[in-house]
Amino acid sequence: MPALKLHDTLTRTDRETTPLDGKTLRFYCCGPTVYGPAHIGNFRTFVAQDVMRRVVEASGTPTLHVRNITDVDDKTIRDSQKAGQTLTAFTQGWTQKFHTDCAALNLLPPHIEPSAVAHISQQVAMIEKLIAGGHAYAAPDGSVYFRVSSYKDYGKLSHLEDRELRLGASEAASATDSDEYTKDSLTDFALWKARKPEDGENFWPSPWGEGRPGWHLECSAMILEYLGEDFDLHSGGVDLIFPHHENEIAQSCCSTHGHFAHHWMHVAHLMVDGGKMSKSIGNLYTLEDLAQRGYSAMEVRYVLISGHYRAPLNFTMHSLDSARQALQKLAKADKALATVSPALPEAKSAGPFQEAWETLLNDLNVPGATGAIFGVLNKLKPAALSAEEATAARNGLHFMLQALGLTLPVLADEAATDVPADIQALAQQRWDAKQAKDWAAADTLRKELEAAGWLIKDSKEGFTVVAK
Ligand code: AMP
Ligand code: ZN
Repeated sequence: MPALKLHDTLTRTDRETTPLDGKTLRFYCCGPTVYGPAHIGNFRTFVAQDVMRRVVEASGTPTLHVRNITDVDDKTIRDSQKAGQTLTAFTQGWTQKFHTDCAALNLLPPHIEPSAVAHISQQVAMIEKLIAGGHAYAAPDGSVYFRVSSYKDYGKLSHLEDRELRLGASEAASATDSDEYTKDSLTDFALWKARKPEDGENFWPSPWGEGRPGWHLECSAMILEYLGEDFDLHSGGVDLIFPHHENEIAQSCCSTHGHFAHHWMHVAHLMVDGGKMSKSIGNLYTLEDLAQRGYSAMEVRYVLISGHYRAPLNFTMHSLDSARQALQKLAKADKALATVSPALPEAKSAGPFQEAWETLLNDLNVPGATGAIFGVLNKLKPAALSAEEATAARNGLHFMLQALGLTLPVLADEAATDVPADIQALAQQRWDAKQAKDWAAADTLRKELEAAGWLIKDSKEGFTVVAK
């Protein structure tokens, strides 16, 4: 099968995702900072990466997916202290919540999920190499900085001019540390942050004194540990291109033989009312917020993939209603095909959805692919198909659904019709909890529903709510 062609931020061209080792596509995604629930903006990036992985795997190439957990930085330390918890207990709680949400969104778990705190020694070793090579220096307070002027290719990913780099760095400096004056140059960034009183118990020993690693360093160190110096692909949201990914390249290339990711995939932002969805602006939605309004995680997933990943996507409640309709239409088509071809579908090839599949292979054009799927379904008359034709169509439909990571809802005519919206919403939350294997939450919600006079009947594909 042909390989996925994906836009590369570095070369600004679409390139085939053929594995360097001829076998496995090895890729790294910058993971979440675990100091609260991830919002659906974060999930836009993780869902796009999931579709990328699914498409690569569906085209016959196995993957090795590494995604980190950022469990030490200013925000995790600050908020763990506010919560009166140790950093470990605090970040473990939010990591668990992240996993629950990922499962509800049908995200394939990464093969390796390393955390920054568990890799301090690898980060210290990388700093030692950078200092030895003249790429980093210790400041009098015990912090260590990367010397940006020592790396001539700095800025090649973000295509920034010198002037813009300086502007970006001075903005970053004024927004963060007040003690950045210890740096030789404004563009230099911290590899090691000397211990400060507000860090509390959260510091580690190092050759430069007690402190903690800078945020950019963890990804470079964990990539070296799990993927080596050369690997296929690196991904994150567009906000990470500069400075985070630029800094990762500098750290890694200067401490190894000058190699790093061969391909860069960046996901454009999810917006609300034309602005970026972010915690600091306070315009964010979590899966829980949307479940309370009666929307399932699968409907959220559908919305998140409905725009091309390289174009900003404006989130509205209306888009969730459209997603519900689209998923129901797919479920109806599947049901109609199942009456002619009742056997469990085998999702091995696209069959009559070949055009949709090829559209997806062309830089993950999901809106184009779903358009092509509906184009085929609109013309399809299942009752007029032979069993063989219906089987090919149903298998092809499931191949596409699997590549997109979509699961089908229970159809309204199969569910009880007079279920109040709040009960339906609770039942949906319970289903999502169950999908996420959060048995305790699922149990509590079931009991709550029973107390309100409603029973839930589960099937493989979904649930039905009936009066007790
Ligand atoms: P964080 O937890 O802040 O480190 O972010 C996790 C991931 O979410 C990163 O890849 C970010 O680039 C991405 N991200 C943050 N905000 C948004 C947004 N509004 N839309 C899409 N991706 C985002
Ligand atoms: Zn990173």
